[in-house]
Amino acid sequence: MCGIIGVIGDKAVERVMNGLIALEYRGYDSAGIAVKKDSKIKVYKATGEVKNVISLVFKDIDSLKDSKIAIGHTRWATHGKPCNENAHPHTDEDSTIAIIHNGIIENYLTLKKELLEKGYNFSSETDSEVIAHLIADKFKKHKDFQIAFHQAVLELQGTFAILCINNKENRIYFAKLVNPLVIGIGVGNNSDNYYCSSDMASMSTLKLTNKFIILEDNEYGFIDAKDGIKVFDISGNSLKTKQVIETKFHYTQADKSNYDYFMLKEIKEIPEVIPNAFASDVSDVLSAIDSSNNIYITACGTSYHAALVAKYVFNKVCRRDVHVYHSSEYVYLNPANANDLLIAISQSGETLDTLTAVKNAKRKGVKIVSLTNHYGSSISRESDLQLYMNSGPEISVVATKTYIAQLIILYKIAFSLVNNSAELEKLKEFREIVGNFLKNNNSLTNVEKIAKELKSENDFYFIGRGLSYPTALEAALKLKEISYKHAEAFPAGELKHGPLSLITDKATVIAISPSDSLVKKIESNILECKSRGAKIVTVTDNQDVVKLSNYSIVMEMIPELFSPISYIVPLQYFAYRMTVENNLNPDKPRNLAKSVTVE
Ligand code: GLU
Repeated sequence: MCGIIGVIGDKAVERVMNGLIALEYRGYDSAGIAVKKDSKIKVYKATGEVKNVISLVFKDIDSLKDSKIAIGHTRWATHGKPCNENAHPHTDEDSTIAIIHNGIIENYLTLKKELLEKGYNFSSETDSEVIAHLIADKFKKHKDFQIAFHQAVLELQGTFAILCINNKENRIYFAKLVNPLVIGIGVGNNSDNYYCSSDMASMSTLKLTNKFIILEDNEYGFIDAKDGIKVFDISGNSLKTKQVIETKFHYTQADKSNYDYFMLKEIKEIPEVIPNAFASDVSDVLSAIDSSNNIYITACGTSYHAALVAKYVFNKVCRRDVHVYHSSEYVYLNPANANDLLIAISQSGETLDTLTAVKNAKRKGVKIVSLTNHYGSSISRESDLQLYMNSGPEISVVATKTYIAQLIILYKIAFSLVNNSAELEKLKEFREIVGNFLKNNNSLTNVEKIAKELKSENDFYFIGRGLSYPTALEAALKLKEISYKHAEAFPAGELKHGPLSLITDKATVIAISPSDSLVKKIESNILECKSRGAKIVTVTDNQDVVKLSNYSIVMEMIPELFSPISYIVPLQYFAYRMTVENNLNPDKPRNLAKSVTVE
C-alpha cells in the first residue's frame, strides 16, 4: 500500500522512477514525482500504472537528468478519489514546497479550516495537502525551513511518513509517526548519496544500498546534500546516536521469469518455500510458549487463516488452546495479559492493524513473537522474538507461497512442542507432495477446465469442517480478491443455520473434503446442496465424494492433520485461472494493496 521514495545525489530522477517501480507491488492507484531543478520544483502526476507518470517525466528527461533531489509517491487513496489532483506530491500555492505523505492526517479538517481562513487555496480533496500549506504558513512566520517543518509536524495528528523538499535548500526533510520510513546511505562510489523509502526492500532490490537508519515514531529531520543526515526527537533534540544497520542484499530483482503473472510464479515456488520455512529456528519460541499462560495469535486476511489452522493444529497436537483474533478487532478487547504470549503474523511486517495490536499488547507486558517475510519490518522490530517466512519476495498482491510458509512454521512449532520428530519428518515431505501436484499436467489441466466451465458463475460457497474450514475461508478469500466473484466460506455444519437459504441452482458449492474422520458428515452437506440444485466441486482424495460431484480435484492421500498445507494449493490455482479466464490481472486486484499500512 502506498510507497514513498526520495533520492538526494546522483541520478536522482532515474532512481526515484526505479524506486516507484520497485514499490509498485505494494498496491496503489496513482503516482507522482517532484524534482528540484534550478531553484524550481517540477511536479509530475498520473493515475493508473507507474509507467504513466514515468512517460511524463521522460518528456523532460534531458533537463531533469542532472537534478540531485527528487521524491516520488505511489498513492492508495484514503481521502479523495484517485485522480491527478489528488495524487501526490502536493505543493504550496507557489510551488516552492512539495510533500509526499503516506498515512492519514486525522485532524486535517480542522487544519484545513484554519488555513482556508488565512487565505490558502487548496487544489485537492486529500488530507495530505494540508501539510504543504501548513509548512508554508509556518515558514512565513519563522523564516527558517527547519523550524517551519518541525512546527508543522507538531500540529499533525494521525499517522504519517512524510518527505518534503523546497526550492531553496538541497535537502529532503522527513518525519515519521506509525507509517514506516527508512533512510538508506549510499555505499561504494555512491557514499555521498542518500535515499528515503517506506521499505528497505525497494532500496535493496535496486541495489542502492544495504546500509540503513530506521526511523522511529515521532522522529523527524533532514538529509542535507553536503552535511548528511540529521535526526531529531519530537522536542527538537538532535539524536546523534542513531544506529546504522547493515543488512545483506536480501532481495534479488523480482521478475516474472517466463511466467505471465507473479501469482503463477509464486504458486510454482511453493515447493521451494517449504524447506526454507522449515529451516526456521523456533527453539526460543518453544521456550516462550512453555513459559506462557495463554497463547494468542493476531493477524489479518490470509495470515488470519493461517492462525486459524494453527488453532486446530495446536489443539490436536499439543492440547493447547490458541486464541485467534483479527488484528483490527484485537485492539478493542486487548485480551492478552502479562505472562501471555502474542504471535503476530504479517507477510509484510508492516500491517498497521497488526502493528497496533502488538503495541497495545506490549503496553500490558505481553511477550511478542512476530512471523513476517521482511527482515527489519516494523512488526519484527516491535517483537521480543522474530520468526521469518524466508519465502523470498512475494510481489503479487494476494498471498500464496507465504501462506504455506506460515503454515509450515506454525506446524513445526506445534510438533516441536511435543517432540514429535515423526510428524516433523512428514512436514518436510510436503515439498514433494505439493511439487507433484504442480508438476502434474493432468492435475493442472483439470483445474483449468473447471475454471473455464465455471467462469461465468457468480456465487461460490466454500465449505469445510474442522481443519478444512480455514482452507475454505482462504480459498474463498483468494477467489473474491482477484476474480471479483462473490465467494463466501462457512463451516459445513453452519449451512443449515442460515446460508442454506442461498443455495439454489445458481450456486456453486466447493467442498473441501479429505478422507478424514469428518468425511461422512461433509458428504451429507454436499447432498443437501446438491438436492437444492447447486453445482458441486470437491477437493478430495475420496472416491465416494468424487461420485457426488459435478467436478472434482483429486488429491494425493495424506495424513488427516496435514490437509491445510496441500489442499489450498489447487484452490489458489483455481482462483488464478478464474481470474485469467475473466481477462483480469491477478497480480493487481482493484482496491487492494500488498502492504496495508492504514487502519
Ligand atoms: N491519505 C493520503 C491520501 O489519500 C495518503 C494516502 C497514501 O498513503 O497513499 O492521499
